[in-house]
Amino acid sequence: MADTTLMDKLVSLCKRRGFIFQSSEIYGGLGSVWDYGPLGVELKRNVKDRWWNSMVHARDDIEGLDAAILMHPKVWEASGHVSGFSDPLIDCRQCKNRFRADDPRIKGTPGQPDAQCPVCGTRGSLTEPRMFNLMFKTFMGPVEESAAVIYLRPETAQGIYVNYLNVLQGSRQRVPFGIAQIGKAFRNEITPGNFIFRTREFEQMEMQFFVKPGTDTEWFERWREIRMGWHHALGLTPARLRWHQHAGNELAHYARAAYDIEYEFPFGWNEIEGIHNRGDFDLGRHQEYSGKKLEYFDQAANERYLPNVVETSAGADRVTLTVLADAYREETVEGETRVVLGFHPALAPIKAAVLPLVKKDGMPELATEVYHGLRREFTCFYDDSGAIGRRYRRMDEAGTPFSVTIDGETLTARTVTVRHRDSMQQDRVALDQLAAFVRDRIRATDAA
Ligand code: ATP
Repeated sequence: MADTTLMDKLVSLCKRRGFIFQSSEIYGGLGSVWDYGPLGVELKRNVKDRWWNSMVHARDDIEGLDAAILMHPKVWEASGHVSGFSDPLIDCRQCKNRFRADDPRIKGTPGQPDAQCPVCGTRGSLTEPRMFNLMFKTFMGPVEESAAVIYLRPETAQGIYVNYLNVLQGSRQRVPFGIAQIGKAFRNEITPGNFIFRTREFEQMEMQFFVKPGTDTEWFERWREIRMGWHHALGLTPARLRWHQHAGNELAHYARAAYDIEYEFPFGWNEIEGIHNRGDFDLGRHQEYSGKKLEYFDQAANERYLPNVVETSAGADRVTLTVLADAYREETVEGETRVVLGFHPALAPIKAAVLPLVKKDGMPELATEVYHGLRREFTCFYDDSGAIGRRYRRMDEAGTPFSVTIDGETLTARTVTVRHRDSMQQDRVALDQLAAFVRDRIRATDAA
């Protein structure tokens, strides 16, 4: 069942602690556009870095790319987005609101007198469904005319298809190989919502893997396994991850097979990543629309062919929301509620807090020294205000896995306490071993 209270708590924690703010809030906000604050930007960056490391740096057969958001308008004709990237929508003639045709709040048959607007309640005011394109349009150059129309990309994938030969030549890769990209995408979603789950501006982490026709099914299965493994390695609760196979009627006309990785959010099971076997649809269309040969020449076999594409397409914001929702927990400790974001240490925005026990006896000075030392390697936070218990709680809410306290013994014996976020247990660690201690623990959770 949908747990709206949990979402409300998460949204409010995200704002209070500087993870995520509504865009242009002082002007009343902009619908379904969000800004990442100091902690949020670190968290999302860690998600993206993990993806990039595993897809690009850890593999010899994938190259990175950063294509522009603006592309030649023909790209979107070739990709099918101009004609097909649309949702059926219903308007209310009375209150001017717009709804997706599958909006469960609509009662009756739109276009008929019995249909009732879910917002203003008027009967008979709803139009029949009409197709509405989800791409944002703008104009290139000084003249606002139809010849100057271009689009904000609704997905990053097309930048990869149109550059596939450039990358192939420049990198000396051979099929099978992949191209990976992280970047912004824009969709004029009609029913956005659920915080950063469905937004109008978002970031995608996409990888297109080019394979020899006939080997696509095998690669598709391989990529399914790798991608599910990646989500598990983020430390997400395994029971909240599952596969959803696209049935025949859900399958895009060009897709040979498609699976979504779904996560059980407080508002129900929803897609976080799609893995698609797209055959030669994309390269075939770009070859046709551009008039440029996009075939691959396999020297060893002395044959030419248009590669097939296996795509893995994840949303950086959706994965960030998944990580936040999965990490959120409340516990009762000594009669008080403790709110914890139990992030995987590698994802935590702040890895270690440095806290002088009291603001005297040279402790702040030594703590500052320790802070500057640790900061060379880890994101750190220095805090000397308030009772130590309160400072620990603040770090629990920020998801900081280690809190390092500088106390009397630090001054005499050069040791600190390291308090662990999840168990709240404390270890006494020699100051000169501190960085190694934190490093080893982060590594250990990654290997687990
Ligand atoms: P949905 O059905 O949820 O709209 P989709 O099937 O249209 O998603 P794709 O086009 O396959 O999504 O995009 C790949 C990934 O990009 C999704 O799995 C999701 O993580 C992310 N994504 C797509 N649309 C949005 C959006 N409006 N806001 C945030 N992330 C998005």
